[in-house]
Amino acid sequence: MRQVAIYGKGGIGKSTTTQNLTAGLVELGKKIMVVGCDPKADSTRLLLNGLAQRTVLDTLREEGEVDDLSQIVKEGYGGIRCVESGGPEPGVGCAGRGIITSIGMLEDLGAYTDDLDYVFYDVLGDVVCGGFAMPIREGKAKEIYIVASGEMMALYAANNICKGIQKYALKGGVRLGGIICNSRNVDRERELLQAFATEIGSQLIYFVPRDNEVQRAEIKKKTVIDHDPKHPQAKEYRNLAEAIENNTQFVIPKPMTQERLEEILIEFGLMDNIKDNYNI
Ligand code: ADP
Ligand code: MG
Repeated sequence: MRQVAIYGKGGIGKSTTTQNLTAGLVELGKKIMVVGCDPKADSTRLLLNGLAQRTVLDTLREEGEVDDLSQIVKEGYGGIRCVESGGPEPGVGCAGRGIITSIGMLEDLGAYTDDLDYVFYDVLGDVVCGGFAMPIREGKAKEIYIVASGEMMALYAANNICKGIQKYALKGGVRLGGIICNSRNVDRERELLQAFATEIGSQLIYFVPRDNEVQRAEIKKKTVIDHDPKHPQAKEYRNLAEAIENNTQFVIPKPMTQERLEEILIEFGLMDNIKDNYNI
């Protein structure tokens, strides 16, 4: 069983990419569980065709206890088992708590069955809070992919996430499997992401183009593969699934200094606005 965590800045496309690529893995005959680790609880809605998935924390709040997996695991597209950790009521308490509670509960109730090929954790971008780092800190997910794009803040976040991964990798078996570029149609984006990945000692494992088919499928509450399996974007997600299935490059990332990251951003023209604004 490969346990995979997907990290990246908020809004970069973690949930979209995770659901679309797991749909691709289903076509390869894989058995999968997806655990949403974001208080937004939208990590599985495309797999469940929008069916409202009650989160683990909400179930606990409403029912007092959870003694059966059927209370927190729903079967979605292609038999993918879907779980949403959920979060505390907004503004109250640590959002990471949901993840800790959920993973513990899934273990106690026997959700990690031997027939599973993959468990995916779709994790909020902030690795500073202990809860969010939970899937890697506790050695649950050994394999990490970072979703990024050619935008400055996405790369800052990716580099910070590498710092977090490095810390846990040195202590345990956590490894970075690669960077997934979810394109924002930035100039020379593929080269920039390639340069970034090389610099941190990893690889650009796949470049996912930006395509409005993703939105069209989303409106229908479906993955692209489910919505229009013949669309070219469906092929992109199948290719990403295959790249992950066949991946052999797992490394301890070497995060960059702020200075080096900014050098690369300048080289690719991403700091031009900042230079103009600050006159540097
Ligand atoms: P995250 O989980 O990282 O916060 P989401 O997966 O919710 O981000 O993505 C945010 C939005 O970006 C989605 O609602 C989706 O419509 C859009 N999106 C993601 N990937 C693509 C893509 N490859 N092409 C077009 N739109 C995309
Ligand atoms: Mg998300």
